[in-house]
Amino acid sequence: MLFDLTQDLRLKIFQHTIERLDDYYQNTNSRKVSPKLDVDEILSTIKKETFTVKKTPNEAVNHVIDALEKYSVHTPHPDYFGLFNPRANFSGILADLITSVYNPQLAAWSHAPFAVEVENHLVQELGKKFGLKKGEIDGVFTTGGAEANLTAILCALNETFPDFANEGFIGQTQKPIIYCSKESHHSVVKAARTVGLGKYAVRTISVNNHLQMDPKQLIDKINEDQHKGNHPFLLIATAGTTGTGAIDNLFELQKTAKNYDLWFHVDAAYGGAAILSPNSRHMLNGIEHADSITFDAHKWMSVPMGTSIFLTSSKEILAKTFRVTTEYMPKEANELEIVDPFTHSIQWSRRFAGLKLYLSLIIFGWEGYEEVIEHQLKMGHLLRELLSENGWEIMNDSFLPIICFTDKELRKDSQFVKWICSKVIESGEAWISSYPINGSNTIRACITNYATEEYHIRNLVQLLGQKRKEFVHKEI
Ligand SMILES: *Cc1c(COP(=O)(O)O)cnc(C)c1O
Repeated sequence: MLFDLTQDLRLKIFQHTIERLDDYYQNTNSRKVSPKLDVDEILSTIKKETFTVKKTPNEAVNHVIDALEKYSVHTPHPDYFGLFNPRANFSGILADLITSVYNPQLAAWSHAPFAVEVENHLVQELGKKFGLKKGEIDGVFTTGGAEANLTAILCALNETFPDFANEGFIGQTQKPIIYCSKESHHSVVKAARTVGLGKYAVRTISVNNHLQMDPKQLIDKINEDQHKGNHPFLLIATAGTTGTGAIDNLFELQKTAKNYDLWFHVDAAYGGAAILSPNSRHMLNGIEHADSITFDAHKWMSVPMGTSIFLTSSKEILAKTFRVTTEYMPKEANELEIVDPFTHSIQWSRRFAGLKLYLSLIIFGWEGYEEVIEHQLKMGHLLRELLSENGWEIMNDSFLPIICFTDKELRKDSQFVKWICSKVIESGEAWISSYPINGSNTIRACITNYATEEYHIRNLVQLLGQKRKEFVHKEI
C-alpha cells in the first residue's frame, strides 16, 4: 500500500529517525540555544519543495530534522531560561507516538472507551489534588490554556444566563463583564473577543507591589459596573502570572466572587503545578473554592504541547454549555453512566492528549513530579541568590522560579535590558527574555526545564556578568 510502505522499509526508517531524534535528546546540550535567523534562507529551504520531485523517506526525515535543528529556538535545552516551554519528558514523547499510531477518536465514548476513561480518571485525580469537592469534579482536556480559558468564559456565561445556550447575547439586556488583573494572560482578552463579548467587556484591575490583583479596586469596579447597569459575571484570578510568576490572593478573591455571585475561575496554566509539592502547595490556598481552573500539563508537567486541562467543580456545566444532539454520532450507551466527550468540549474530533500525562504519571508517579518541581524551585532560589550576590537587583518576589532583575545603576539607560537580552541570545549560550515591571524593563529568566542544573545557573550568572561588563565598556 502506497502510504504504508513495506514493513522492512518502515523499520529501517523508524530506526534511522529514532537514532537522529535520540541524538538530539541525548545531546541537546551541545546545540546553541537559539539560531541566527535568516528569514530568506528559511523560506527558500521550504519553498524549494514543490512536491513535484519526490524524496526518499530517509531524505525527507533528514530534511525536516536538519531544518528543525537549524531553525528553532531549542526550548528543550537546559540553558533555555525562557517562557514556559519545557523539555518534553520521554514518556510524553512515547505517548505521542503511540497515540499517532492508534489514532483513537475521542469525540465518542464508544469509539475510544479506554482513552476517554483515562482522561476522566486524570480529571478526577487532578481535581482532587486542587482540593475540588469529590463527586462534583468534571473537566476536559484542551489544546492549551487559551482554549481552557475560553471554555471558562463559556461556562460562566451559561451558568449566569440560564438560556444562554439558546439565546446567546441577543437575549441579554445587560452587558456581561469579566474581571482579571493587568498582569493576567492576554488569552483572556482574546477569548472575550472570540465569544463576541469584545475587549471592552474585560476590566483589567491594577496590581499591588507584589503584582497581585488589587482586591479593593476589584470591588470598586464591580460596584461601578452594577451601578451602570452592567452585569458582572466572571472573576479570573491568575495563579502564576506569565510575566513575573505572581499569584493573586485566591482566598480573598473567592470571597469577593461569592459576595457578588461571580463565577470564580483560576488561570493556573503555569503555577498550578505548585500543588504537586508540599513545599509550594500553600501558595495556591483558596484554589479549592474555584468554580473552574485552567491547568497546562504542557508547561511545568513537561509533556509535549497540546496538553492542557479545564477543571470545574460544577458537575453539570460542561454539558449545559456544549451538549448538542446529533443523529449521526454513535449513541451513548443507555445503561452505562458514560458521557460522550464531544458534548463536553469546544473540540469535536479530539486527539488522545491525556495519554502523555497518564504515561508520565504511571511511570514516574506523583513522587516523580514532586521531585522535579522541588528541583526547579530550588534552582529558582539559587538563581535569585546568585544574582543578588553579583550585584543585580531583583524586581519581583515570586516563590516560583521566575526571576525579573536589572542593574541598579545601568537600568537608567533605557537600552540596557534590551542590549543584554539580545547579546545573551546572540551568544547562543542561553535564552532569556525581558518583562516590564511598573513601567521599567527588567531581564526575565525562568527555570522551565527539569534538566537545568546548578552549573547551568552558574554559567548564566557568569554570562550575564560578562555582558554587563561589555555594556559598561561600550559606553566609555
Ligand atoms: C501560557 C499561559 C496561558 C496560555 O496557555 P497556552 O497553553 O499557551 O494556550 C494562559 N494563561 C497563563 C497564565 C499562561 O501562563
